[in-house]
Amino acid sequence: MPLRAFQLPRIDRLATLYAFYPIAKLIGWSSRYSVPILTYHSISENLFGKVHPYHQINTPASVFATQMKWLRNEGYRTIDLGEALDGFETGRSLAKRFVLTFDDGYEDFYTDAFPLLLQCGFSATVFLATDRIRDSAVRVEGADYLTWREVRELHAQGITFGSHSVTHADLRSLGPDQIDYEIGYSKETIEQKLGASVESFSYPFALPEEDGDFIRYLADALQNMGYLHGVSSTIGRAMPKDERYFLPRLSVNSWDDVELLRAKIEGGYDWLHWPQWFYKFAHHSVALMAGRSLDQIGSREIRS
Ligand SMILES: [Zn+2]
Repeated sequence: MPLRAFQLPRIDRLATLYAFYPIAKLIGWSSRYSVPILTYHSISENLFGKVHPYHQINTPASVFATQMKWLRNEGYRTIDLGEALDGFETGRSLAKRFVLTFDDGYEDFYTDAFPLLLQCGFSATVFLATDRIRDSAVRVEGADYLTWREVRELHAQGITFGSHSVTHADLRSLGPDQIDYEIGYSKETIEQKLGASVESFSYPFALPEEDGDFIRYLADALQNMGYLHGVSSTIGRAMPKDERYFLPRLSVNSWDDVELLRAKIEGGYDWLHWPQWFYKFAHHSVALMAGRSLDQIGSREIRS
């Protein structure tokens, strides 16, 4: 495991490992009724150039292998989102269970991630922005995406596919018809290509969780389209209290050595949801106070 995680001061890492994780362990925060849902994007060296470690969306194959093998050796087993929700409803213990998710549908899932998942006996859900998935490989902004042939092959081998919208849209900026198109047409497309139902949706970009009206509207729209559950970028492990269409997740990338991954899985990173929520709430409030109408921040048209 490389030591790169120590080369940059990273407040979330330090606060997690030396304050919140020890506290979480002390108070028994690591509940057997919560499930870590891990978010990966690309399994590659450096897809989008230099960004802050927190925002990096690639994980080199060697680091991914270390993370998966550590999980396997610790006795963790994958479940899917439906099984996690079923555990919440029935009260069945979810200890040592986790959900693996991959957003965007990068081709390196097929070439680099899947062979390792097979070795470890893990399953995963991949969320596709369907405009980027074609019959032949498509390169968008320097990244290669899965083809439908690869998607079908992966599905036949047990990988689950969900929707990540059609165009990877910021749904909050759209009107009702466009939202219906993004969540409906993407589902329909994957279902036609696979001949299987699509049950899950991954919200693209940051979920505007501070906007309760939007969240309720979108949850209803997803339900009406036939979705059963979904995930978001809200930080934390998923718990029975969470809205089933926007379950929180734990983002993982190159910078997650085993020490940080363990802390995340065991609840030591859940605290970060509060600063995340406060940042969104403050941003939303400042926009309102600055005199921008709700239309301008992309909300009113879906409230009526
Ligand atoms: Zn995405």
